Amino acid sequence: MPTSPSEYRPFLLSTQTASRGERRLALAAVAVSLLLFAALAPFARTQLLPVPAFIPAYEASLVVLDLITVSLLCGQYLSFHSRSLLVLAAGYLFSALTTGVHALTFPGLFSPSGLLGAGPQSTAWLYMFWHGGFPLFVVAYALLKRLDGTAREAGKRSPKWRLSALLAVPVVVGGLTALTTVGQSLLPAIMEGNRYTPAMIVVVSSVWTLSLVALAVLWLRKPHSVLDLWLMVVICAWLVDIALSAVLNQGRFDLGFYAGRIYGLLAASFVLLVLLAESGILYRKLMQLTAKLKQLTLQDALTGIANRRAFDAALDLEWQHAMRSGQPLSLIMIDVDHFKPFNDHYGHVEGDKCLQAVAAVLRASATRAIDLAARYGGEEFAVLLPQTDAATAGRLAECIREGVAVLAIRNPASPDGCVTVSIGVADVHGSRTVPQAAPAAAGHPGGQALVRMADEMLYAAKSAGRNRVVIKEVKELAN
Ligand code: GH3
Ligand code: MG
Ligand code: MG
Repeated sequence: MPTSPSEYRPFLLSTQTASRGERRLALAAVAVSLLLFAALAPFARTQLLPVPAFIPAYEASLVVLDLITVSLLCGQYLSFHSRSLLVLAAGYLFSALTTGVHALTFPGLFSPSGLLGAGPQSTAWLYMFWHGGFPLFVVAYALLKRLDGTAREAGKRSPKWRLSALLAVPVVVGGLTALTTVGQSLLPAIMEGNRYTPAMIVVVSSVWTLSLVALAVLWLRKPHSVLDLWLMVVICAWLVDIALSAVLNQGRFDLGFYAGRIYGLLAASFVLLVLLAESGILYRKLMQLTAKLKQLTLQDALTGIANRRAFDAALDLEWQHAMRSGQPLSLIMIDVDHFKPFNDHYGHVEGDKCLQAVAAVLRASATRAIDLAARYGGEEFAVLLPQTDAATAGRLAECIREGVAVLAIRNPASPDGCVTVSIGVADVHGSRTVPQAAPAAAGHPGGQALVRMADEMLYAAKSAGRNRVVIKEVKELAN
């Protein structure tokens, strides 16, 4: 069982090295992007109708996608304390906030010139900072990735405290908003009405180069994790977005403008989709591990039947059920005869095999779904039989006794020459009163009383000469 977060790392998108299939899938996504780009590029300047609803719809979707990605990345950061993931979460938060501000300042959307004191240059410059800023976060992610899990990365501050570093992002976006709105005169003009100025070429080339740099750094930091791979796909789509909507087109509301933004939306969903798929995989693994853990805690490791913990829990439940329903509940206690000398003679390995063989007889005898065969401890076993009275349980106990004798496992210490078992059987009826033997202070007084009664019968069977069944009331049933 994995016991520390690092042992779960192989499941993680951010650490798992991309398989050949995943690389092919990512390559296919890039190839489709490039084909679409090649098909759309010649028509980038085709003027289309201005659709005012396009920008808020596209940007609202983008903000939601980015924020979901932020929360998933933060969740992973809190679980695995990887600084690179925190930086990437900051990048997506930066993208979400800048997108929101971009929508608010877009001319003609919420007010003729845009909100927040926006001027003709504000939205275009915000777009440039947004598209130039995100690749910088990706570069930082790629550079920090190597430190993940190292002593240098561990640091002194708690991961939750470090999460507050994300607060720096709104401050930066606030600064950029101020610069591009009230301070826009400080920036060169890149828009003239809905058209680009020559200065735009320089600005957009720099922004494009930043994305290329991010792609190169990601590529050079091998081996590539699944997350690296999809970030490279994102950056490729991002490059196409910038090329179509700020380089090859000539202004707002032409084909390049629309197509580039749709690329941006696709780019935002790639990492999110992979993170969501990973959550599904992790959830499945968690379910499998939980089932395995449950099995391990309730199963006896040597014999594979229920262990003492499972028996105690079942006894508690079945006792309560019997008391409510008025139906009988029987318990068979089984002890291997002369087992110590058997062990001493043949050794523990043979002793273990003998216990496994006895357990197999129990498993084969208690066949109803509600029956429970368990290893009570050492060479003692128990079979819990709901809705069964002592007489019926006695018959089953006799089958078990015979079943073990028929195994004919040699035991020189036994008068019968083979391994035998002594069995005690007791029952309770919910319709009758709880036995007086029940100790008031015990956890499950009734259940314990039933165990005590079956134990008494077992000792009676031992005293009477072993290899026999003694049941309550009917007393000795057979030999
Ligand atoms: P009796 O007929 O009175 O029951 O005699 P006994 O020798 O069976 O009883 P005792 O309780 O003295 O011995 C039980 C032995 O069971 C002692 C121990 O070595 C053995 N034993 C308990 N657990 C295991 C186990 O997991 N594997 C093996 N091989 N032996 C075990
Ligand atoms: Mg014993
Ligand atoms: Mg014994």
